[in-house]
Amino acid sequence: MSFNFDPAVVCSCGKKHTTAVEHVTIEAGAINAIPAYAKAYGAKKAFLIGDVNTYPLAGDKITAMLEAEGISCSKYVFKERRLEPDEKAVGSLVLHYDAKSDIIIAIGSGVINDISKILAYQTNTPYVIVASAAFMDGYAAGSSSMAIEGVKVTVPAKSPDVIIGDINILNGAPIHMAKAGLGDMLAKYVSICEWRLSNLINGEYYCEEVAEFTRQSLRACVNGAKGLLEHNDESMKMLFEGLINCGKAMDYAGCSRPGGGVEHYFSHIWDMRGLDFGTPTSSHGMQVALGTLNTIKCYQELKNITPDREKALAYAKNFDFADWSEQLRTFVGKGAEAMIALESKEKKYDLDKHAARLEVILEKWDDVLRIIDEELPSVDQFEAILDSIEAPKTLEAIGLDSSTLAMTLKSTKDIRDKYVLPRLLWDIGELDNVCEKVFG
Ligand SMILES: [Zn+2]
Ligand SMILES: [Zn+2]
Repeated sequence: MSFNFDPAVVCSCGKKHTTAVEHVTIEAGAINAIPAYAKAYGAKKAFLIGDVNTYPLAGDKITAMLEAEGISCSKYVFKERRLEPDEKAVGSLVLHYDAKSDIIIAIGSGVINDISKILAYQTNTPYVIVASAAFMDGYAAGSSSMAIEGVKVTVPAKSPDVIIGDINILNGAPIHMAKAGLGDMLAKYVSICEWRLSNLINGEYYCEEVAEFTRQSLRACVNGAKGLLEHNDESMKMLFEGLINCGKAMDYAGCSRPGGGVEHYFSHIWDMRGLDFGTPTSSHGMQVALGTLNTIKCYQELKNITPDREKALAYAKNFDFADWSEQLRTFVGKGAEAMIALESKEKKYDLDKHAARLEVILEKWDDVLRIIDEELPSVDQFEAILDSIEAPKTLEAIGLDSSTLAMTLKSTKDIRDKYVLPRLLWDIGELDNVCEKVFG
């Protein structure tokens, strides 16, 4: 199936699909395309951003190429070995920024991209990201994941105008980064499944074209996964392309549904705990991969359930939000306040709203089970994918603590106004039972 997301054409879902990313070049030697892009944007003065690890990958070469074309360059190279996406990083970038620049070129992945996107947004300057690793799908996103005053938040930023995926650079990155990138792709099993479930239960907007585009990218990445260990160029190209496609899919859909579901919230909870309590964290993609594995385990358990109206109604009635808020504060830390505040807007625990959702779920339970079967691999199949790239399968293998899994899943239902697995389990009164059965 080929896709044509023409911004001028109305899709079968009723939407015109657009993306903010104008140009993507993915090939060996892709950085050679940068001077032509810079000229196309009318640039006279480029500002390069990197850190001690990423700048040396391409900084001097890009500078030489641009200067040969009459484009002068200045730069800021972060000295931190582990750069945090916080006020300090954005502040030093702004202080070192040459305001005469008319194009920003960043070399990096997660944090460098997140803070450079903010600078490009604030200064309204054309922005090029040279990816240093196929690490996650956030390259294209028009927002940045930041930690402000110690709380994890999403802030507005500029989507890159140009994304450069130079296979020579990507394949030189440590293998754990590609494993994390694949982990972020594997989340798409769950994200598409939950998007369909919310469409079924809540009538949320859904586009099958965007979903299929995402599934196809996921399949290509899974098929190429084994080759990543051998630094195979074709496998790396498929992975990076898949990650960029998923970024575009979120633009097309106008929401994050194609990119992530509850498995991403596992990772958010661990990050929030890490910020407040200093508990260990790992890379986004690795956390998401393990979030996905544990999510699939829970969906597998859900398939054994036949929901019962009386049980579900009693469960919702006995739920004490004030008590639950205290548990969230203790478990998540500072980040819990925004989650608790969300409920006053969202009213997901409102008994009438619950009763209405429950009727839909009871009526459509066969469809719920069918969607899960259609979208999710079995636990064994999923573990075989992780094995194919020698990725970790336990939280302990990435330094985290599996005894927190039950509380993590329960907390994920409060993160955003998004209908995901723990909300469905709560609606049928089975959240505690499934946690008990799957996580002990
Ligand atoms: Zn559509
Ligand atoms: Zn992600």
